[in-house]
Amino acid sequence: MSALFGNYKTRPIQIVKGKGTTVWDENGKSYLDFTSGIAVLSLGHANPILVDTIKHQSELLWHTSNLFENKYQEKLAEKLVKDTHLSHAFFCNSGTEANEAAIKLARKHTGKHKIITCLHSFHGRTFGSMSATGQEKVHKGFGPIVEKFEYIPFNDVDSLLAKVDDETAAIMLEVVQGEGGVHVITPEFAQAIQKICDEKGILCIVDEVQTGIGRTGTAYAYEQTALKPDIVTLAKGLAGGFPIGAMLGTAELYESFGPGTHGTTFGGNPLAMAVATAVIEEIFTKAFLKTVTDKSQYFKEKLQAALPASVEIRGMGLLLGITCDSSSKLVEITDKNGLLLVPAGEDVVRLLPPLTVSYDEIDQAVEILQAAIPVTTTVK
Ligand code: PLP
Repeated sequence: MSALFGNYKTRPIQIVKGKGTTVWDENGKSYLDFTSGIAVLSLGHANPILVDTIKHQSELLWHTSNLFENKYQEKLAEKLVKDTHLSHAFFCNSGTEANEAAIKLARKHTGKHKIITCLHSFHGRTFGSMSATGQEKVHKGFGPIVEKFEYIPFNDVDSLLAKVDDETAAIMLEVVQGEGGVHVITPEFAQAIQKICDEKGILCIVDEVQTGIGRTGTAYAYEQTALKPDIVTLAKGLAGGFPIGAMLGTAELYESFGPGTHGTTFGGNPLAMAVATAVIEEIFTKAFLKTVTDKSQYFKEKLQAALPASVEIRGMGLLLGITCDSSSKLVEITDKNGLLLVPAGEDVVRLLPPLTVSYDEIDQAVEILQAAIPVTTTVK
């Protein structure tokens, strides 16, 4: 029996090496990694710029704690908020931590407690963010969740309007529900949220843990919507594979997150900051972001041409989902055929290549999917 807890349902592949979009298992078999470690390896495996950055920083300084000023945090914070309406950053180590910070800040700033989130959302596994997550299966077995989270169907404007009241501190949502099956926000929903937030002084929290840092073809996915969030949370792709989380917020929120309100030992450590800064310098350019949009368009068109019309192709940028009868069966087949994918529920599979994926690798992935899909999808 394994010495590990069994909380992950792992697939029988032991990955031992990675380079760009390719990984190798212990038997030397290669795979196209269209999981990117679940939207994490934004610049691919063993990216030379990031390898050099880690080497350099690891010889200089790993960790100092938040007892001292930290120029590495300052530099990254400035880069993250540049060209946005946001002003400040707080750094932590994961997406769930970033969301915990957001929930605490929203409650503290407004003095209110109710937070509206969406059904099928995913915000993390710690108590606050688990409670924000609109999926009963995530809550099951853990007793009372944090109070005052209320859920509405994603993209349902009427439910939103019915749920908002004077006790509402914030509305929290993803622009694309990733874990929840790759569902993209509608323009109407985004407009309605922003309007009601503006009218009633409710905070808008956009969870960009999966969609942020160029994944959808813009620095942040909210830029492609009517949303103007007060708080944005980040993690996953931000440091290209090094653990990190971040919460960004507007200047109005500054006073509510003063000394003693929140903190973390490891958050903002120089190693994470250095790698994330290198990632941002690569990704936050017009030219790089355009490559993501172009590849997305190409990928979608190729998939449309190759797959049966009954297969729905959804998503933004390089966060795409395709429908199938059984995601576990499809993933089993593509694993065997050298393409790694991420299930998003029972009938959707996510395609999340590194943003540096080549057109040739996209072609290869489409070919493997084309062969696998008829086996797992009832062609209607
Ligand atoms: N929010 C979103 C949208 C996510 O997709 C995830 C993870 O999948 C999280 C939060 C939680 O992030 P982490 O696993 O880093 O805690």
